[in-house]
Amino acid sequence: MIETQNLTKTYAGGCIGLDNVDLVVKRGEFVFIVGPSGAGKSTLLKLLIREIAPTDGKLKVLGQDLALIPRKRIPYLRRNIGMVFQDFRLLEDRTAYDNVAFAMHVVGATGRIIPRRVSRVLELVGLSHKSRVKVGDLSGGEQQRIGIARAIVNRPAMIVADEPTGNLDPATSLEIVDLLRTINIQGTTVVIATHDREIVDYCRQRVLYLDRGRLVGDEERGAYSCAL
Ligand code: ADP
Repeated sequence: MIETQNLTKTYAGGCIGLDNVDLVVKRGEFVFIVGPSGAGKSTLLKLLIREIAPTDGKLKVLGQDLALIPRKRIPYLRRNIGMVFQDFRLLEDRTAYDNVAFAMHVVGATGRIIPRRVSRVLELVGLSHKSRVKVGDLSGGEQQRIGIARAIVNRPAMIVADEPTGNLDPATSLEIVDLLRTINIQGTTVVIATHDREIVDYCRQRVLYLDRGRLVGDEERGAYSCAL
């Protein structure tokens, strides 16, 4: 799913985002990326979706060598990666249904498959009864559920989540991570960058520790503070 060798990103001005990272994430894994601010978590996520290009080293995502990927193939890569954001990034004046359906329209879906698929994912995230409610009228936890529904509706191989619980209270955060885990158990690889100690310790899944751009720890059933 993800394979890196000596993956390095140096920003203009010489600032190091990632420094010689070697990593393998297999299909179906559930992985947290943790580390202090500036450790390189966002840099790694941005490299995975090819928002930025590596400076050096190898990076393979979903079987594609991202150093060699032609620009026109990047939308196909992103179609197979569902993104979940801290600030949800939903269309607030549109309904829950519209927000999820929109993600299908964007990739060219048409016809009956849209209502069928949207209903199914809204049911999976527990919000069928709110499908006609404007997203701006939903709670933060509900909005993040819609964000997750949107991320999975095109059936990506992998979900990449950037601080998905950063705007949520602790109880809601655990519900959101439970939902991500359910989706993972159904076969989707999940990668979460987070500062949220509680969700990491609650899940006891694989934890990758970054510090100043380096991968300094990799625990199979890690806790937030293992190697920090
Ligand atoms: P994290 O997500 O763990 O907080 P980042 O990946 O955002 O860390 O940042 C890693 C390092 O790269 C930091 O030192 C940061 O200042 C630097 N950095 C991130 N983005 C840029 C950029 N666009 N230009 C220059 N430096 C950057």
